[in-house]
Amino acid sequence: MHAQQDRQSTARPSHQGSGKGGDNGAGVGSGSGPGPERDQLDRICWHALDAATAAERLDSPQAGLSADEAARRRERFGANRLPEERPPGLGRTFLRQFTNPLIYILLAAALASLFIGAIADAVFIGAVLLLNAIIGTVQESKAESSAQALKSMMTVRSRVLRDGREEEVDAEDLVPGDRVRLGAGDSVPADLRLLESEDLRADESLLTGESIPVEKDADASVDEEAGVGERRTMLHAGTEVPDGRALGLVCRTGQATEVGRIARSLTGAGDTEPPLVIRLRALTHRIALVVLGAVALLVIAQLLRGAGLTEIFFFAVALAVSAIPAGLPVAITVALSLGRHRMAERNVIVRRLPAVEGLGTCTLIASDKTGTLTANGLTITRIALPEAGRIRVESGEDERQALLRPDQEGPGVEGLGAEGPGGERPGAEGPGAEGPGAERPGGEGGDADTGELDEAAQESVRQLARTGLLCNEGALRETDDGEVEAVGDTVDVAFLVLGRRLGLSRRELLKQHPEQDRVPFKSKRRLAASFNQGGAGLQAHVKGAAEAVLPLCDATEAMQEQVDELSGRGFRVLALAAGPIEGEAAEAARRLEEGELGGLTLLGLVGLIDPLRPEVPEAVRRCHEAGVGVRMITGDHPATGLSIARELGIAGEGDQAVTGAEVQAQADQAQQDDAAARLGRAPVYARVEPEQKTAIVGALQEQGQYVAVTGDGVNDAPALRKANIGVAMGRAGTDVARRAADLILTDDNFASIVNGIEQGRIAYANVRKVVWLLISTGAAEIVLFFLAFALDLPLPLDAVQLLWLNLVTNGIQDVALAFEKGEPGVLKRPPRPTDQPIFDRRMIEQTLVSGLYMGVVAFGVFYWLQHVWGWSEHDARNTLLLLMVLFENVHIFNCRSEERSAFAIPLRANLLLIGTVAAAQAVHILAMYLPGLSDVLEVAPVSLMEWLALLGIAASLLLMMELFKALRVRPQARATANAPAAG
Ligand code: ADP
Ligand code: MG
Repeated sequence: MHAQQDRQSTARPSHQGSGKGGDNGAGVGSGSGPGPERDQLDRICWHALDAATAAERLDSPQAGLSADEAARRRERFGANRLPEERPPGLGRTFLRQFTNPLIYILLAAALASLFIGAIADAVFIGAVLLLNAIIGTVQESKAESSAQALKSMMTVRSRVLRDGREEEVDAEDLVPGDRVRLGAGDSVPADLRLLESEDLRADESLLTGESIPVEKDADASVDEEAGVGERRTMLHAGTEVPDGRALGLVCRTGQATEVGRIARSLTGAGDTEPPLVIRLRALTHRIALVVLGAVALLVIAQLLRGAGLTEIFFFAVALAVSAIPAGLPVAITVALSLGRHRMAERNVIVRRLPAVEGLGTCTLIASDKTGTLTANGLTITRIALPEAGRIRVESGEDERQALLRPDQEGPGVEGLGAEGPGGERPGAEGPGAEGPGAERPGGEGGDADTGELDEAAQESVRQLARTGLLCNEGALRETDDGEVEAVGDTVDVAFLVLGRRLGLSRRELLKQHPEQDRVPFKSKRRLAASFNQGGAGLQAHVKGAAEAVLPLCDATEAMQEQVDELSGRGFRVLALAAGPIEGEAAEAARRLEEGELGGLTLLGLVGLIDPLRPEVPEAVRRCHEAGVGVRMITGDHPATGLSIARELGIAGEGDQAVTGAEVQAQADQAQQDDAAARLGRAPVYARVEPEQKTAIVGALQEQGQYVAVTGDGVNDAPALRKANIGVAMGRAGTDVARRAADLILTDDNFASIVNGIEQGRIAYANVRKVVWLLISTGAAEIVLFFLAFALDLPLPLDAVQLLWLNLVTNGIQDVALAFEKGEPGVLKRPPRPTDQPIFDRRMIEQTLVSGLYMGVVAFGVFYWLQHVWGWSEHDARNTLLLLMVLFENVHIFNCRSEERSAFAIPLRANLLLIGTVAAAQAVHILAMYLPGLSDVLEVAPVSLMEWLALLGIAASLLLMMELFKALRVRPQARATANAPAAG
């Protein structure tokens, strides 16, 4: 105590005088003192201190900080986060709107107007520029704010000890002195001094550039001078733990951490620009060239006609500005961001914007079984003993007790279909479901025999359960309100629950059989072991997949048959074995890992049921309807996987499972084509090691599939990256997997992927709508001008009018279109081919038809007014401008659907759109009456009759496009919908 007090006082000289913390060492230790100060902590070489001293310095009691103390320190040290890369401020976004060649031209035009004394024109162009920039800024900041909101949903959670209990908190709320537990796949939330470590390695490439994970050890001794890469006693914020387990003491948080010092953002995967936006930008450039070519022709024509230079200049600028769909890339970004937002509401978080588009093209989902297709709430309902045959585990009167009864259906008994595990799946019960409810007793042959098990068999079951408890990495905990909470792998939890129901507890067992060493479970090994001291000396306790465990024992044929039979009915089968060990525990562990340990006794098998997620069969059906294939990837036995796949509708009767090893072999040495085809078609990939997932993804992509792959472990990261769309689990997933993924499912649910695909398709459809609107209206303007030029009429609209037209009809309405809800049937057609261009045949046709119609009719009206009715050029323009505004407003309703009638879509489904259209009309009519504006625009009020007549003409465009959709589009669509679906 004295020594501690000394250190405390040297470490915190400032508190000597306070007379509170300084003279009462016990108070400091219990955390009620003032606690550590920031500057002192920053100067300490934590890596060189031993663990105990580090804990003292941080006033961190063994049981963790108290909630009060944590709150106090949170005040003092601030949130554990790095300063965000600030999104560009409004000012900067606003200024960026002006960095665009079209804008430069307009600016030049404004200056030129000033120069020649046309002040009103200059002011008008200035106003257009300003409005344009405001609209652009609003749109961009909208996209940005939804991206920010998503970032906040990506927060890392940490397991921390507080008040003697383990809790989960936001990593942001960690404070120095907190004790944090980490496991494989976690990312390190703060700089930690290790207190305990087990087979621990850390990937510190973010800090050191070293890509190979380095070993970490709580007990290592490290020099004060050691560089970051050599600090084996530390884990650093922002790095990742691919292997092992640790308990660490938070010593620096937020900006004080090593990453904080080098100020690199942890958020990773920045938004790259979606390929779709890039493609459309390129398209915009091409259109710009065409428009500029057209403008050049018109300019020459005007010159030949002898028009004034300034007039021609302004006209050229205006036509270019209004016909080039410059707003396209921004509108597309908005459409995709909106898709992302809608996906988030459906539990799908999109990390990279391009994935929104990608989801729309997805042709195949390769999904993990456990946790995604099933509820990951494993319950042991069957036990097979070498001597006593098979036993059912049921609940008695008291749910907390297991009722063991002989299972009447021996292997090979026919007619069990009705009983199959399907009948026992009550749907998701949540992890750690206490079992009893998971089995629906009654109505089967076994029921007749309610006889209890004989004493010897009961003892065998207990012995098997003991091994399952000793070789276990999970824990059951009773919460304050008497509920049982489970932590750890669900297989482990299932054994803990079984033990509990048999009146056994891991804690009690460990007292009698202290653990000497263990081999933790790894997917690749498919087994786990522990080595415990017992009355009869050192004992090995092994549990794992039957193929992994049976070779270690002298198993009988009969037991192998049991494995096949139980697997075939959808049970996950694990084998348990035990036996005495000669020599050291560590040596035995090594031999087991190298496959040299043998001579164990097989205690028996257990069959576990994992309830299906109830939403999945329906989701699978929707996928098939949408032409999206579904495959299962599992580490389980092929028969188990296949049986569950059948229940979910993923596999049919004749389908076969393929093993991960087969896929790997195929990938390595490119076998014959038919083998490849078989692998590609198999609905179930079983006994897949995480590393083999990459080969599976590759094989599927080679068939031309656009693949979404789910994953949660560290080893899944490469497959997630290779997939067209990597999908990580938000709950069960590791941080590593989440960072590698494009999408994160916050509810780990397969059905959410399907909802994501639906939203992806909707977003893409909306992109097409925006493209249609912007390009056809631009085309209409070009057509109008060319006709006037060809028939030697004056310019239909002057520069200012053109700019006005563009402003009131395109500025916001394109974005409003992006808000369209999905059309019915988006999930009832095959996915669009990945290489299908936006400008496919239908788009070209509908753009041409609508653009030509508007251009030709508008020209006709312009001609008629002047040449038939003898109106002045000025009056004809006034009417024409109003007509064009009406045309473009009406056309928006056409663009709401490429297939459906505009009248079939409820107006209230997109109030924003209705609002922008009404506003455009209101603003234009207002402009006719506003003295200053009406002069610049050269417009004058029109009569109601005139307005109605023009509306009638504009509305004829609706009829035109209705006809087009009915005669041209819908028959085509029906033809493709009937074509066989891909995948
Ligand atoms: P999945 O992805 O289907 O969960 P895993 O790779 O986790 O598959 O597991 C593969 C096999 O390893 C399982 O079929 C089971 O036999 C065995 N196994 C799973 N969890 C454990 C565990 N905690 N202890 C021992 N063996 C296990
Ligand atoms: Mg598993």
